[in-house]
Amino acid sequence: MVTQPPPAAAGPLRGTPVVPGVAYAPALLVHAEVSPEAVAAFDRDQYADADQALAAYDAAVGAVADGFARKAAAASGDAAQVLTASAGLARDKGLRGAVRKQLRGGDDLLAAVHAGVDQFVTVFTGMGGLMAERVTDLLDIERRIVARLVGAPEPGVGTPEGPCVLVAEDLAPSDTAGLDPALVRALVTERGGPTSHTAIIARQLAIPCVVGAVGVMALEAGTPLLVDGTAGTVRTDAEPAEAEARVAADAEQRAALASWSGPGRTRDGVPVKVLANVADGSSAATAGEAPVQGVGLFRTELSFLNRTEEPSVEEQAGIYGAVLAPFRDERYVVVRTLDAGSDKPVAFATLEGEENPALGVRGLRLSFGNPGLLDRQLDAIARAAAETGTETWVMAPMVATVAEAADFAAKVHDRGLVAGVMVEVPSTALLAHRMLEVVDFLSIGTNDLTQYTMAADRMATDLAHLTDPWQPAVLQLIAITAEAGRNAHKPVGVCGEAAADPLLACVLVGMGVTSLSMAAAAVRPVGARLAQVTFEACEEAAEAALSAADPVAGRDAVRALLG
Ligand code: PEP
Ligand code: MG
Repeated sequence: MVTQPPPAAAGPLRGTPVVPGVAYAPALLVHAEVSPEAVAAFDRDQYADADQALAAYDAAVGAVADGFARKAAAASGDAAQVLTASAGLARDKGLRGAVRKQLRGGDDLLAAVHAGVDQFVTVFTGMGGLMAERVTDLLDIERRIVARLVGAPEPGVGTPEGPCVLVAEDLAPSDTAGLDPALVRALVTERGGPTSHTAIIARQLAIPCVVGAVGVMALEAGTPLLVDGTAGTVRTDAEPAEAEARVAADAEQRAALASWSGPGRTRDGVPVKVLANVADGSSAATAGEAPVQGVGLFRTELSFLNRTEEPSVEEQAGIYGAVLAPFRDERYVVVRTLDAGSDKPVAFATLEGEENPALGVRGLRLSFGNPGLLDRQLDAIARAAAETGTETWVMAPMVATVAEAADFAAKVHDRGLVAGVMVEVPSTALLAHRMLEVVDFLSIGTNDLTQYTMAADRMATDLAHLTDPWQPAVLQLIAITAEAGRNAHKPVGVCGEAAADPLLACVLVGMGVTSLSMAAAAVRPVGARLAQVTFEACEEAAEAALSAADPVAGRDAVRALLG
């Protein structure tokens, strides 16, 4: 059973707004599978002999490979390489030979393609490693060849011929290789929440985006869509002149936002630290160029996702030093210790075979059975801090009790560093005042706090209306935490995706949150939004969001208040 509320009977389609901005362009519908009707209608006996069928195969392969090559030419870096490799794989002579053999053996063309690809899948899978990873590409190629043969649109993201709004059930990271923001003016998905891959990609590319827009896949391809990534609406009835005027006004506003140069503060001068989330030295270097006062979340585990052995203290110190170095100029970096487990498995740390890994031994909990892992990481962080001279704060993920926070803080203080914990588990928010007796700061991870408060898997695309940080219950826990910080005169930041939502950022500040940490692409829109509103307006916005019946009502009320 799909648990989403039904779409409104009339008016615009509504979803969860993820990246602000207005766009108007025809819908480009992305289908994950080839239309079953087209496959069923395909005349399997239309070819006189195997050679004629093979000629049809060659034509289909040519079209598919050309499509990849065109996308490769428009892309750069890794994406271009992946697409060029796919073009080569589609034209592979061995694959053609396998298909020809099947045709000569009496298979019809669709069966021959399937059997040919299947043989390659078996071989690639047996080879393991990188070759096994290409199986997904092979299956993608098969679907595209079949689509060409039966005269259906190719599944996956096609090459847009002109400006478009990409409309999909949901998008995988591979779907977006080579996505060109100059042509793809907005992203709208039927499923997915604010922390889905689509949302993360859209935020990186700064493309207006609405997710969880139930009913959008039923629209006809080519329908002009007016997408509002702030309101979360998708309209099919806009007059072109009206739509173009809205797009122009939005572009003007976005240009104004892009010129924001910090530091973070409200219109009446209340300071709010605007910080960046980073994953490694290269993203830290990019963030260092943005108008940020530092890094509010360095996700250390992302450096180790493909490592089987724990790196030495020396190697770790080098990795952390590369992130600290760009901020040695009076700025600071909050390093999070390993958040391995659940959706981020790290071979040398994560436990195998847990029944429910999101509620299992992840984050700080890994150190209970393996304290050396945490000690060595803290030694490496301390070494990197000393070598770079950067002000370094350290926080632990997935903390649930005051005793855990106290033990962690003692280890961090022993190394002369500033100690904090993340607020991702409701128990930590509820006891924020006691946590602050043992740590120097708190940082609210709204992605997990939302997941655990609403008991809704953050990756579950059918639960987008629950995995929304605008849920009043989640906001209530944030308010409790921020108030504890105010009373203790200690910093309380937000480093989950909620901080990247300019409207929600104002709400968080109104609750008393002292820093906001986000993807570098969100820094200017958030900073500029804060500069437009007074602290009192933020407080009113916080009250409105907290007392709203649900996320949609909360967003509407805050938008009405802040304009
Ligand atoms: C969070 O949970 O909000 C957070 C910032 O951590 P992550 O997204 O890495 O789990
Ligand atoms: Mg988290």
